[in-house]
Amino acid sequence: MSLSFQDEYIKKESLHGAQNYSPLSVVLERGEGAYLWDVDDNKYLDMVSAYSAVSHGHSHPELIKTIQDQAQKLAITSRAFYTEPFANFLESLTKVSGFESVLTMNTGAEAVETAIKAARRWGYFTKGIPENKAEIIVADGNFHGRTTTIVSFSTDSSYKDGFGPFTPGFESANYCGSCDCESLNSCISIESFERKINKNTCAILVEPIQGEAGIRVPKDGWLLKLRELCTSNNILLILDEIQSGLGRTGKLFAYQHENIKPDGLILGKALGGAMLPISAFLSSKEVMDHFNAGSHGSTFGGNPLATKVASRALELLYEDNLIENSHILGDYFKSKLKSIDNKIIKDVRGKGLWIGMELNESEVNAKDLCLMLLNEGLLCKETHKTVIRFAPPLMITKEQLDWAIKKITKVIRSV
Ligand SMILES: *Cc1c(COP(=O)(O)O)cnc(C)c1O
Repeated sequence: MSLSFQDEYIKKESLHGAQNYSPLSVVLERGEGAYLWDVDDNKYLDMVSAYSAVSHGHSHPELIKTIQDQAQKLAITSRAFYTEPFANFLESLTKVSGFESVLTMNTGAEAVETAIKAARRWGYFTKGIPENKAEIIVADGNFHGRTTTIVSFSTDSSYKDGFGPFTPGFESANYCGSCDCESLNSCISIESFERKINKNTCAILVEPIQGEAGIRVPKDGWLLKLRELCTSNNILLILDEIQSGLGRTGKLFAYQHENIKPDGLILGKALGGAMLPISAFLSSKEVMDHFNAGSHGSTFGGNPLATKVASRALELLYEDNLIENSHILGDYFKSKLKSIDNKIIKDVRGKGLWIGMELNESEVNAKDLCLMLLNEGLLCKETHKTVIRFAPPLMITKEQLDWAIKKITKVIRSV
């Protein structure tokens, strides 16, 4: 594989760009479906999907058409005016999700900020928490984005070192995926959430599965317990499904595995059909109506171009059978990965097409393994040195997965 052409771009990036990422040494040029090609025309199967933003596959022809048509008509207006794509998107998303009201932003972090503002206003104006006293409980190991407020309640020092002073009003409890307790009844996680609750608590904000932390999957029943805890204490349960939502775990939303409903839901990533950034906060009117004109906003949030694409992307979730595919092929992929059975693999876990393979640290480094997989034509990304996550586009086929499994098996046996 010749890398000369690619070296030039890699050098340019490190010369002129901030070094806030450490990408694998491959320069990508185009994508189609589950495949990507680099500038030297080498072909790869995508197992990263832009951190689960590419559920529909790269360059979906229907979404390209939608984007072209709408861009020719009207792309950006700001929310100073009404538009048809925005109105119809709101109607579609409320219908599909079952939530009454939507506030659109662009990036995931902005939607999380929106949820925090909504929870605080609800806390002050509905629950009656004294001014500036509202508290939100989050979980250790969380990832909710990169703004200064959001990193304030991160427990990962690489996200927050040197970025203080931090925003007050957040408490952190134990996430369930990290404890070894026998059953939920003795779960230290639920207990630690319970301990953090007081009369000023307005919300609990968690990810149903922690992605960035290494695909940490809580015990069955954990979310239900959190739901009960929130209901009995008059606290909002807000779920960050920016990555787990829209079919990634084999259900439309990850919370549906537990038959609960949160009070607030945060979406992003795949919402834009792998084309444009768009994110949303969803809730009841009771919560959302605490926003009034002037209290929150975004120049690009809810623009006609992004909302047109997002509406079509929502339809395609069903037309392209993405949710069911994620469920069926996710189970298949996980069982195949489990059956590799090698001493370098410590654990395989996940739901739908969102799987983490934890490696034994003493045997191999996850980034090295990603480099080996890259040489076999498989794009994967490590997280926290020991976990490789597999998150292919949800439109991937069984044949493509079988090919990937063969390559993964080969690489693991060669270590
Ligand atoms: C990616 C992600 C975010 C942040 O989204 P951005 O678009 O990068 O701001 C927040 N929460 C979760 C769970 C995510 O996976």
